[in-house]
Amino acid sequence: MSTELVVNPTAHQILQSVFGYESFRNQQEAVIEQILAGGDALVLMPTGGGKSLCYQVPALVLDGTAIVISPLIALMQDQVMALRQFGIKAAFINSSLSPEDVNEVETRLLNGDLDLLYVAPERLMMSRMLSLLDRTKLSLFAIDEAHCVSQWGHDFRPEYIQLSVLHERFPSIPRIALTATADETTRAEIIQRLSLDQAQVFNDGFDRPNIQYRINENQGNAREQLLRFILNEHEGDTGIVYCLSRKRVDQIAQWLEGKGLKALPYHAGMSNEVRAHHQERFLREEGVVIVATIAFGMGIDKPDVRFVAHLNLPKSIEGYYQETGRAGRDGLPANTWMSYGLQDVITLKQMQQGSTGEENYKRIEGHKLDAMLGLCEITTCRRQAMLRYFGDAMGEPCGNCDNCLSPPETWDATLAAQKAISCVHRTGQRFGVKYLVDVLLGKDDERIMQFDHHKVSTFGIGTELDNKEWSTLYRQLIANGLLRVDFERHGSVQLTEAARPVLKGEQQLTLRKMLKSSKTKLRKSRTFSATANNALWEALREHRMTLAEQQGVPAYVIFHDATLAEMTERQPQTLQQISKITGVGERKLEAYGDSFLAVILSHSQAEQDVNKSDTVQETIDLLTQKLNPQEIADKRELTLSTIYKHLSQGIEAGELNLVDALSLEEEQIRIIQNAFEHCDDGKLKTVYEALDGEYDYGVLGCVRASMGE
Ligand code: ADP
Ligand code: ZN
Repeated sequence: MSTELVVNPTAHQILQSVFGYESFRNQQEAVIEQILAGGDALVLMPTGGGKSLCYQVPALVLDGTAIVISPLIALMQDQVMALRQFGIKAAFINSSLSPEDVNEVETRLLNGDLDLLYVAPERLMMSRMLSLLDRTKLSLFAIDEAHCVSQWGHDFRPEYIQLSVLHERFPSIPRIALTATADETTRAEIIQRLSLDQAQVFNDGFDRPNIQYRINENQGNAREQLLRFILNEHEGDTGIVYCLSRKRVDQIAQWLEGKGLKALPYHAGMSNEVRAHHQERFLREEGVVIVATIAFGMGIDKPDVRFVAHLNLPKSIEGYYQETGRAGRDGLPANTWMSYGLQDVITLKQMQQGSTGEENYKRIEGHKLDAMLGLCEITTCRRQAMLRYFGDAMGEPCGNCDNCLSPPETWDATLAAQKAISCVHRTGQRFGVKYLVDVLLGKDDERIMQFDHHKVSTFGIGTELDNKEWSTLYRQLIANGLLRVDFERHGSVQLTEAARPVLKGEQQLTLRKMLKSSKTKLRKSRTFSATANNALWEALREHRMTLAEQQGVPAYVIFHDATLAEMTERQPQTLQQISKITGVGERKLEAYGDSFLAVILSHSQAEQDVNKSDTVQETIDLLTQKLNPQEIADKRELTLSTIYKHLSQGIEAGELNLVDALSLEEEQIRIIQNAFEHCDDGKLKTVYEALDGEYDYGVLGCVRASMGE
């Protein structure tokens, strides 16, 4: 269709008219030029960097059909649907199609009626498919997830190796291989196995600047910390929560659900149907939190995952980076959050030592875990440390990780470490952390007596720290390799060589200070509440959801969050203005422009009504001066219910946020919102009664207004 719109379209015209984007990002333009010039390219870009456009744009500029090889059959359908939304002629062939459907696609291919065709590698290699391609006018081959040729990676796909055939059979067709895995070895392997020696390499590094990294200490209430994180920062957002075991997955999913979240479990122990159903809901619905073992995520390409949380410690930085990397593929701000504690360290070390793998392998795994632990304990920029680990230098601290945002306090732990290590030594390197802490604290304990450890020099010398602080210190000593845990001897803690200089006073030890558990007040700071206009944002999302449901496509296929956020911020008032919004190409403007415009206009109207109404404004002004609703009513000699009516109008128009308007705790607000969600008629009276009259009608009205009823 694009070719019908403009004669001889250039890459830039297509970017704007079809995709609705203003300019190319990173190396996109250079890559596209290389392909248009008939050359091959190897593109290494981080997830969310914009790899797809590197082949989609040339596919539209060049005559003929682009063949996209992708290992992820489950994704093809969504990718193709997304392209069709832009008015692009795209199709896929894979085992999920009926023979008739395959026939139809093949006919379109031969007739030159496709801009892009997605196929799985095994399908491509069938002689039928290859001979079909012989008779087709081709524009390019795009080999997505090219690291799948690497036998050393986790995603190795034997069929990928055969893709070198393409070069021999279709030597004049440009090829572009793409991956987010940019390490040296993988790169060399891709070049060699796909015969890409002539290809130009484009490397954008690994960094995912939109992802914020945060690693927290488990203060014995990881689950509560997680809930607080989700409610404070990600209410209504899509997210993934990783747990180590299936049992824990089930427990956490159930618990979060009980707290009013749309949480669904996902692990290998569930039936295929239920698992597929949960995955489908995650992809299609908004605001689903999937609780999963790490089995979940491969082949999931949902762009608007706003957070990834770990309730366990990943086994390596590679794993951590890959799992957290599932957040924010759309390039918008995303959060990652992890909780880790002593028990995680012990469990993982135990699993590793207990595994039956060969020694060499175990040793490497051990080093990887140690690097991960190091990442948890460092006090400097986490992103710099990770990129350094991957061989990618980063000059300045990132400013978007917890250590950069609120630099941790450190303390001179030398003396305490000496006590802790010495206690291990004095008690014969035969006991676990709990016992050691009891000895340091001088606990009156039968076992200690029995072993005569109330007589050792370290008994009772550690009262300056409490139980928790000592276990944290032991965790840090283990994480830093000064102590090790021996599982063949029931998890007893032992000294390593590295402990000696500290014990002898030859080396100082500086450690992160343990956070005192803080009861921070709940505050909402969702990704887009920064754009202030929550009511419009929600209205646009709702409209998008309606359209998506009508067509049976995921919401992001209609418009990305970024597009809705820009609409919220700029509030376009004409179709012409809408067409300027990022992500609104010609086809989408035609299909959706009017209806989104209507949503914005009716919202602006409501807002103006409020603005016009001086009396509402006066109430809001008084509220900003820290008067409560009763005081405002008294001062203005109006009834309390009138004041609440003003407030709810202000909320509806996005002038006010709920938390500011009501002196209620977030928890109470949630209770009320829940009651509205669970009542059939949405009437104040119903909810008033359901909550036993605990909240005033005025308060309920404000909460309802905030829900966009
Ligand atoms: P990758 O495949 O590298 O993970 P995508 O190709 O899916 O990344 O692109 C990530 C996001 O960035 C998508 O939402 C895409 O629409 C958007 N995007 C890509 N290139 C541009 C651009 N030049 N301008 C605006 N948005 C872009
Ligand atoms: Zn940082």
